[in-house]
Amino acid sequence: METVFPIQFHSHSAAPGAPLSDPDPIVGGRVELQLLTTLKCNLKCTYCSLGVGDVLGSQTHVEYDIEQLAAFVDKHLQGKEVYVTFYGGEPTLNLKLMLEVMQRFPLFRYQLQTNGTLLDDVPEWALAKLSNILVSIDGGERTTDGYRGRGIYRQVFKNLGKVRGHIGGSVTSRVTWGNPDTTFEELDALIASESPFDYLYWQFVADEMYFDDSIAKRKAVLVQLIDRFFAHHDSLYPVIPLMGIVRNKVLPTRAQELYAGRTQCRVSTHLINVMPNGQIFPCPDMLYMPAMQMGDVKQNWLRKSPLQATPNMPCANCEAFSWCRGNCMKNLHLAYEKGDARYRDNVVNPICDLLRFIGQEIDKRDPHQWFAQASLPVRKKLADNEVYEYVEIMP
Ligand code: SF4
Ligand code: SF4
Repeated sequence: METVFPIQFHSHSAAPGAPLSDPDPIVGGRVELQLLTTLKCNLKCTYCSLGVGDVLGSQTHVEYDIEQLAAFVDKHLQGKEVYVTFYGGEPTLNLKLMLEVMQRFPLFRYQLQTNGTLLDDVPEWALAKLSNILVSIDGGERTTDGYRGRGIYRQVFKNLGKVRGHIGGSVTSRVTWGNPDTTFEELDALIASESPFDYLYWQFVADEMYFDDSIAKRKAVLVQLIDRFFAHHDSLYPVIPLMGIVRNKVLPTRAQELYAGRTQCRVSTHLINVMPNGQIFPCPDMLYMPAMQMGDVKQNWLRKSPLQATPNMPCANCEAFSWCRGNCMKNLHLAYEKGDARYRDNVVNPICDLLRFIGQEIDKRDPHQWFAQASLPVRKKLADNEVYEYVEIMP
């Protein structure tokens, strides 16, 4: 159980004038240290969330040094199991910091979230130490190049072909499902046997792209994905949101144990995003909101995540809550705490509708019965997958 200390205090190692730290700001024994190595990117994806509040490109140089990061880790993350995600902008544009961190903290686990265009610049020793690489892609060639620029899809696959054999861990295709015309076939192809990807993770785009028949079109593709998921018992269809939701339905405590019952994207418990200037935020999509700041590496302070579920949010009365756990806290915060009715109606509610639909379609296929018949390796892969620690699980 989490201990609650009524009094906050200054540590001797905090910078003078720094805000108060919480004595135990991280919930649980693990922490994901997401280092935004730069806010610069070499692509211009049309839906980029860092475009909100002009965050993209605003900080191109890291203002803290490795010793300041070490002092921060010593003070606030002592005794925790730390896993780092290199994030951006495009993190490989600051390979120097990435490699320096990997050498300085050899006990940590590492993940890279990248657009894949510069992957061939990462040295082999570093590729071997990456537990997971999340490569952003939008589906097939036409969809991907439509959002990212002509030739990007081929460039990413070419790079992956070059480096795949050197990567120590898994490779996950990270899809933002923005285009309502995205087909089952193009998503399925990302995890075909000859594909360099081990997993597919998609997130529904957090933008106003849910008009007219676009929800029905997505539902038709979801039905195909779910049918495919339940088609076999001796192999797992590696689509993370479906894996996670089925896991949560057949093993309900797993939906809670890594996140103390809060949102599975970890923003309320143990995800800390360090901006290049050293400021820390729980969610990488809310870097433009000063009220969300929860720490600073240079000033060496850290408080509990301010991004928490509140009674204003509708989750407690939602049929999906036991396995969804509040999906995206940023979306709920903007819609129900900030009261952005347009965002609520055009983005958050359609996504919640799609989530409930997924849950209902999974239930129709009797996930308990499927799990009972699944082979032991399939059950283990579904229940204990390390990849759940690297993604939000919910779409
Ligand atoms: S579907 Fe929406 S309302 Fe329901 S639990 Fe998930 S985030 Fe909350
Ligand atoms: S899922 Fe979590 S980390 Fe991702 S945008 Fe939403 S609140 Fe932020």
